[in-house]
Amino acid sequence: MPRPVFRFAPSPNGHLHLGHALSALINFEMARAAGGRHLLRIEDIDPARCRPEYETAIYQDLAWLGIEWEQPVRRQSEHFAEYATVLARLEREGLVYPAFESRAEIARLVAERETVGVLWPRDPDGAILYPGAARELSAAERARRRATEPFALRLDMKRAIERAARAATPLPNPPPQAGREKNLCWTETGGGAPHEVAASPEQWGDVILGRKETPASYHLAVVLDDALQGVTHVVRGRDLYEATSVHRLLQEILGLRAPIYHHHRLLLDQDGQKLAKRDQSTTLRDLRAAGWTPADVRRAIGL
Ligand code: GLU
Repeated sequence: MPRPVFRFAPSPNGHLHLGHALSALINFEMARAAGGRHLLRIEDIDPARCRPEYETAIYQDLAWLGIEWEQPVRRQSEHFAEYATVLARLEREGLVYPAFESRAEIARLVAERETVGVLWPRDPDGAILYPGAARELSAAERARRRATEPFALRLDMKRAIERAARAATPLPNPPPQAGREKNLCWTETGGGAPHEVAASPEQWGDVILGRKETPASYHLAVVLDDALQGVTHVVRGRDLYEATSVHRLLQEILGLRAPIYHHHRLLLDQDGQKLAKRDQSTTLRDLRAAGWTPADVRRAIGL
């Protein structure tokens, strides 16, 4: 039996806080309990927000907590060429297309539509679903604009869902019913007994998988890296539960094996909001400087 593989995957765009400590400790302890491996992955695809000093601080903070991980650490910024290759393949297959609208243009398009009283749909994170028409551009028009304009590479959600339904091998038992597609699901072990969750990627619309200057988005990089690193158990915060629908869809169209998912509770601040890196008061390094011990951290986060 191969050993289970767990990973903690922080982004070095700020100092780790108590919420990260919870996630990292749950990962490390679940890996140990399962006799598994524990990996650390640095998710630094956004050069505007990630900084090397935050990465160094991640190593220090995790070591202080008593967490161990295998070497070498995978750093996503070193793998852009691999993500670009996969994007190019998806584009050749007609599942990804370049869209040229800026964020401001998208906001304007939606505002125009909403003046007639219809609320334009939002994704589970509250972001506007792509309202543009770049899907319909001719190949010549695409090539012409691509040479000079910035663009986002978007997943054609409708086509991707159709492809996944075709790609899915029906389970032999019970026999597949005629005309019924296999539902895209994931195994969830968070919040009690393991259970199957039906994925609903359509609620995310045509998500961005890459940009002209950065050929990867979180969704693409996380799915490829989990597969490449042989991750069997993805343990992360409940805030990424809904995004798992997109990840399952990408795994299906790329022919990748799906890990088991475990979405754990989030730590909330006094206003009931998820702790964020901007909440300086709870960074692990500030708590350490104020005299906290790793045992104090565990107590504070309910471990
Ligand atoms: N890099 C992501 C974050 O810091 C976590 C990704 C994941 O665990 O799937 O929120």
